[in-house]
Amino acid sequence: MVEGHKQNISSNDSIATPDSKSGELITWVRSLQQALTVEVNHGFTNIQGRTNKFSFFVSGYLLTCPSIALPKTDFSKLKELALKYENYPTMSMDSRRRLIVQTRQALHGLYKYQESNDRKDPNELKIRRKYESIGFSRSSSVDLLSLRSSISAVKGVGPKQAERLSTLGLFLIRDLIKYFPRDYVDYTSLKTIDKTQAGQNVTIVAKIRRCSSFKSPKNPNLSILELFLKDRTGGIKVTRFFAGSRGRSIAYVKSQQSLYAVGATVAVSGLVKESRYGKSLNDPLIEIIDSPNSYLKSRTIGQIFPVYSLTEGITADKFRDLIQSILYLTSEINDPLPQVTLNRLDLPTKKEAFFHIHNPEDSKTLARAKRRIVFDEFLLLQLSLLLRRDLHKKSDSPKLSIEPSIDSLVGKFLSILPFSLTDAQKRVLKEIESDIVKAEPMSRLLQGDVGSGKTVIAISALLTAVQSGWQGAFMAPTEVLATQHYQTLSKWIPQLELNVDLLTGSTPKSRRKQILTDLANGSTKILVGTHALFEDPVVFERLGLVVVDEQHRFGVKQRNKLLNKGLQPHLLTMTATPIPRTLALTLHGDLDVSQLDELPPGRTPINTQLISPKDKTYAYDLIRSEINKGHQIYVVLPLIEESEKLELSAAIDVHHQLSTEVFSDFTVELLHGKMKSLEKQEVIKNFLNKKSDILVSTTVIEVGVDVPNASVMLIEDSDRFGLAQLHQLRGRVGRGASKSYCLLSHQNKNKLSRQRLEVLVNSNDGFEISEIDLRFRGPGQVLGTKQSGLPDFALASLANDADVLELARNEARNILDSDPMLTNNSQLRLLIKEQWEKLKIGNKLN
Ligand code: ADP
Ligand code: MG
Repeated sequence: MVEGHKQNISSNDSIATPDSKSGELITWVRSLQQALTVEVNHGFTNIQGRTNKFSFFVSGYLLTCPSIALPKTDFSKLKELALKYENYPTMSMDSRRRLIVQTRQALHGLYKYQESNDRKDPNELKIRRKYESIGFSRSSSVDLLSLRSSISAVKGVGPKQAERLSTLGLFLIRDLIKYFPRDYVDYTSLKTIDKTQAGQNVTIVAKIRRCSSFKSPKNPNLSILELFLKDRTGGIKVTRFFAGSRGRSIAYVKSQQSLYAVGATVAVSGLVKESRYGKSLNDPLIEIIDSPNSYLKSRTIGQIFPVYSLTEGITADKFRDLIQSILYLTSEINDPLPQVTLNRLDLPTKKEAFFHIHNPEDSKTLARAKRRIVFDEFLLLQLSLLLRRDLHKKSDSPKLSIEPSIDSLVGKFLSILPFSLTDAQKRVLKEIESDIVKAEPMSRLLQGDVGSGKTVIAISALLTAVQSGWQGAFMAPTEVLATQHYQTLSKWIPQLELNVDLLTGSTPKSRRKQILTDLANGSTKILVGTHALFEDPVVFERLGLVVVDEQHRFGVKQRNKLLNKGLQPHLLTMTATPIPRTLALTLHGDLDVSQLDELPPGRTPINTQLISPKDKTYAYDLIRSEINKGHQIYVVLPLIEESEKLELSAAIDVHHQLSTEVFSDFTVELLHGKMKSLEKQEVIKNFLNKKSDILVSTTVIEVGVDVPNASVMLIEDSDRFGLAQLHQLRGRVGRGASKSYCLLSHQNKNKLSRQRLEVLVNSNDGFEISEIDLRFRGPGQVLGTKQSGLPDFALASLANDADVLELARNEARNILDSDPMLTNNSQLRLLIKEQWEKLKIGNKLN
């Protein structure tokens, strides 16, 4: 929208200029008219020219129209025609004739448009379409390119450049087209100065009233050029900064100043700031407008343009040019969806979407392009998840029976528990039971906040399997957690009289051999372990149920390793990172979802506090007094992904400081990921048995460890964690009935990160927290969903417009209902196969 100006800028204003532009268009139209005439005279036979057939020539030529400032509708009309010419060879004579008539009409329209513009005296910005300004043309050498060509085949891309691009995973032209912008800068909003507001990206056209330059009083390497601009509505300050050798050079800055003569008209695009000295634009894009009729040289002023994530040695402009120069090849993209479907769903074609995602005309075309691309991503994901689910449901599963008697294993187990199940637990158990008596395998996801009592559910389900004569597997993401589950089971097992084993990566060889034998002959009923459970030599006699704890820690890959083994046991996955239902559907569309939305009674809410460096003494005093009351303490250090060594040394340092200085009178032990498994178990056992008071730990305790006597958790550098993760960590305390504390220590540097942490102080609801976390950090980060293969903006859109997901999900169901194996949708089939290969999901579609 343009406020204060009569006419819209953007790419579609007049084409009339007294310079060569107008002549160029005329020449262009004439050449095309000639070609059309020759074809007509030859009776629509698609004549062979010097290098190309008529139709091929025309379809390329139409896209090279130099009148780049055509109205949008005209430009898309040309594009449409170009597409039609691709079918020319297979058209009937009549259709060919009609197409040529249409083309002539369009050309006539251009003429008339041009004429009316030549008469106008346009007095606004003249912006070239980016498309043209880089001199794109489909010359015969370019014609050889296709989506599958290597990038180095593009004119102007040397081996060095190609190598740099390859570090971004870009090898083929296709890859470039799929390399979506990270963001956009939208300068299409042309405003008069009075209508500009702080925080807006705008473009203004105004006259220079004052211009001065001076050295920064504080920094000798910095020079500042200041312009004061005025239009008929007001004034604004423009500041440009020159740093480094340029900033030092008086001559350079003076030469810059001389460019901006007082009285000259400039077009300026930038972000508006406001201070008590008035409005200003800092380091905006500026271009002198020589005459009202000349085109801007800039490719960015007044435009909406993409911003890409780049690597060193590739400049933003170069990369944009490269993308623009191959963008015409989007016309080669086939649409996996028929036009009727697109019309029904109000989506643009795929080629349009890919074209506009890199070259949006305005925010509306951009939104539509994004929507289509997001839709496709979701559709493929939903299709493959539903396909997988359909396939999975077709396979036979172990039939389990449920005898609801006190004598059954589950009945016995529930009766020896020191508590009764919550209503939520009872409901979820029923859901699971009704699944596993069916002949089709269960795939169920159990979401439950930390501490909601998922383990009891897991054990009950496993016992049901054992009761029916099958074996069960219980898989945890870390050794610590697997060991803990094993110990929990072992506590109750003697009364239930069955064999349970633990298998992890560090189980000694001899023991391992015995376990495998017992497993294969069926004497072991439940095997607890890490992903070592699904390594190759592990063979169950009759595997009926697999429970996967903290499933978000496992990749799709690991889950599929299990399914690909040809096993079709019932599958129960559990997660304590509760996510909104729509998101759960996207990421786990092949699973049914159960929720434990109730915590066991008798928990006192955890008192959560932010601890800045000056509050450290307070924190230590609190810890001391809690230990004196007989409680235990966790001190947690963040996982530093970049450097395991750093993480380790931080843990060792803190442990040293606490054990020798601050708490030398208490027993302080250390737990970290690099310790041998036996050492770890020893440390955890000591903590469980109250032999140690304080456990300093890296995030190995993040999941699952259950020590009800622990009442304080001090989390160092807490701003390095995600909220959902902090919430999980915090769930390690407050397990008993006594009051517990979570102390979030931070460096007090950044307001935003403090605000983020405040969320935890104010909320104890895992769903709420993960939703806020999603907004702060984006789903990719929160869920570690790189493995989902979705582009970031697709994931981002989940938080905002879930309706596309809904749409895609319904469409996927529609498609599969009428075409269960996608036999009639070969394109989609192919795309899904590609996606599966990308995710290494396996190839059941073959
Ligand atoms: P999570 O869902 O985080 O895995 P756990 O299964 O570890 O939670 O359970 C947390 C604690 O709550 C455990 O000590 C467990 O014994 C206890 N618990 C589970 N269910 C109930 C219940 N219905 N009533 C009381 N305590 C329960
Ligand atoms: Mg758990």
